[in-house]
Amino acid sequence: MARSQPIYQVAVPAPLYRLFDYLAPSEVGVPAVGARVRVPFGKRELVGVVLGTAPESDLPHARLKRIARVLDAAPLLPASFLKLLAWAAEYYHHPVGEVVAAALPAWLRAGRAAAVEGVRLWSLSAAGRAADPAALARAPAQRRLLEALARAPAGLEAEALENISPRWRAALKALSARGWIEVQVHDRLAASPAAIQPPPQPNAAQQAAVEAVTGALGGYQCFLLHGVTGSGKTEVYLRLIERALAQGRQTLVLAPEIGLTPQLIERFQRRFNAPIAVLHSALADQERLRAWLLARDGTAPIVLGTRSAVFAPFKNLGLIIVDEEHDTSYKQHEGFRYSARDVAVMRAARENIPVVLGSATPALESLNNARVGTYRLLTLPDRTGGAGMPRVAVLDMRRLKPAEGLSHPLRAALAERLARGEQSLLFLNRRGFAPVWMCHGCGWTAPCARCDARLIYHRESRKLKCHHCGAEAPLADKCPHCGAAGLHPLGEGTERIEAALTKFFPAARIERIDRDSTRRKGALEEKLKRVHAGEADILVGTQMLSKGHDFPSVTLVGVLNADQGLYSADFRSGERLFQQIMQVAGRAGRADKPGEVLIQTWHPEHPVFAALARHDYGAFADYALAERRATDYPPYSHLALLRAESTRPGAALRFLAEARMRARAPAQESSVQVLEPMPAPMEKRAGRHRAQLLVQCKHRKALHGFLGQWVAQLAELKFGKQVRWSLDVDPVDMY
Ligand code: ADP
Ligand code: ZN
Ligand code: ZN
Repeated sequence: MARSQPIYQVAVPAPLYRLFDYLAPSEVGVPAVGARVRVPFGKRELVGVVLGTAPESDLPHARLKRIARVLDAAPLLPASFLKLLAWAAEYYHHPVGEVVAAALPAWLRAGRAAAVEGVRLWSLSAAGRAADPAALARAPAQRRLLEALARAPAGLEAEALENISPRWRAALKALSARGWIEVQVHDRLAASPAAIQPPPQPNAAQQAAVEAVTGALGGYQCFLLHGVTGSGKTEVYLRLIERALAQGRQTLVLAPEIGLTPQLIERFQRRFNAPIAVLHSALADQERLRAWLLARDGTAPIVLGTRSAVFAPFKNLGLIIVDEEHDTSYKQHEGFRYSARDVAVMRAARENIPVVLGSATPALESLNNARVGTYRLLTLPDRTGGAGMPRVAVLDMRRLKPAEGLSHPLRAALAERLARGEQSLLFLNRRGFAPVWMCHGCGWTAPCARCDARLIYHRESRKLKCHHCGAEAPLADKCPHCGAAGLHPLGEGTERIEAALTKFFPAARIERIDRDSTRRKGALEEKLKRVHAGEADILVGTQMLSKGHDFPSVTLVGVLNADQGLYSADFRSGERLFQQIMQVAGRAGRADKPGEVLIQTWHPEHPVFAALARHDYGAFADYALAERRATDYPPYSHLALLRAESTRPGAALRFLAEARMRARAPAQESSVQVLEPMPAPMEKRAGRHRAQLLVQCKHRKALHGFLGQWVAQLAELKFGKQVRWSLDVDPVDMY
């Protein structure tokens, strides 16, 4: 018998915890490890990646299928990167094929070639510019194209031409035949055209931070850069990138989804005469692939991206920076539930390079790591340019009667700013007009039919909407319960505050910034532009205002419902609240106009507020960490949350009870605690009944050893399609 052929172990995008064995394709060419292949899988054909080879398979030879086609002549992904993905699959106990797929741009997942043509730009030749459109009266598509190109001397891309005429290709061909058209291939990621700006002289704290990290280039070390808002953290990043560039190494900079603003990108472009690749969720597929390839091939020395960019391949990565490392958008909330911050740290350790986590309000886990010496702490204690921190005052709402959600002192402070021509910012984490639509006759409130939640009244769209499942209902004006007429909104959302401001301050120019008011593409940019141009007096908005944007002319920040989440079921809610308020307060004020922050609360005695008033994140952390220690929550233990949901009431809980039975024996051997299954804090959501089970352990290693065994068993529980379940390692949200 012939010597057995090698077996190719392929990661296939399917929810299964293993690789699949295939034989070499029958046509010529064998795949390299790291190449994509098309393989038969059940009745379908899927695009997978070869992760390894083996001399033998567990399956008899006759049952093995052949690879249908090899898609990459050379490995698409380097070996070290494949190992990172394998580690992530193991750590998050997620199917490896799905992890690999998540790391690939959509075009590569679909099997397209790993290459991008430059963007083609069409413009008029000299003859075309001299041509008379009237000569094309009988060819309207050609005429429209000619006119549009005449108005765009820099040229137009296919997308723009498509908007001019759906028959643009034929029309363009006809114009080309007359010699009127020129085409250029244009690389959008060529070195930035923006003028390079000289950097400011670093202050002593910045200099010390830069020196510390520079000294660590070439080896692994995790730094926590804790600097108050406006202390010049970004300036430190820029200096570090410069050093990495000088050594010929690439830098990956991660920013939260909402923080990767055009302003930030521009700031990087103004600093470096080098191509910068940008990776975020709003990119078109082609642009994403292009940026991904620039990172992989080492063409872009700087890669700026959001969460998923942590899984971009690099040729020569030398440094990772995670800005606003506390931000929860680094955690993927469904499917492959990784934390980009944590993966960044692990990636740096594996690649033997430094990683810098920066924040004004570090996650307690990170701060604790710095306190125990696992991370090295770098501090920027002061704002740059001598600017002071804003004065913070707590307004005791038990004594103050608010009118439409605004207390008297806050209204007076707003009036003062208006009189002085200064800007104010009101922060309220609830969009819509009112969170409750209520009958005053019997107390009925409009519920969502599919969730355990109330519908939110949206006045602009005259609808009731569920913020959890997106369901909408018409505005009932009669109570379905008691028949009384006249239902009323209760409580305040951003729409209502905007309306109240219009009433109290009819002359004020108000900009509301929330997901509803910025849905249209470009709307947010327009609003921010008006704010920065001084064409707005009061900004009202949700947490969109607490991230990424600076408002130097704002001298008053009002926090309207600070109590939301103060006593919530999630053990992290206090930390979130503190971070949000401190971040939003830090967006305001500058050296010559110090800011003031007014916080409306019904619980002014809560220790969170005393620490806030002193801008003392350390004191807050002491208090919050002591609480975590007493309750055995992270960072003093490690968690995994098993979530289950089903359209059938009770099925999710039954699944979890069974899962817990299976867990008992292995858990007893170690220090792992498997708690009782519980209904989720919001039991029903989008028509599904949800439950969860918390696994807790002091030792990460023991926890992962346990989870490995357990997950394999869960996959075999006989609940079929009735129950959907997922495991969340290091959960960030507990519902
Ligand atoms: P952070 O990222 O901590 O919020 P930035 O790096 O954005 O802070 O700095 C805040 C502002 O201070 C920016 O306008 C920046 O250009 C400026 N800045 C930073 N470092 C210095 C410095 N050493 N001297 C003067 N201005 C500085
Ligand atoms: Zn009623
Ligand atoms: Zn709902």
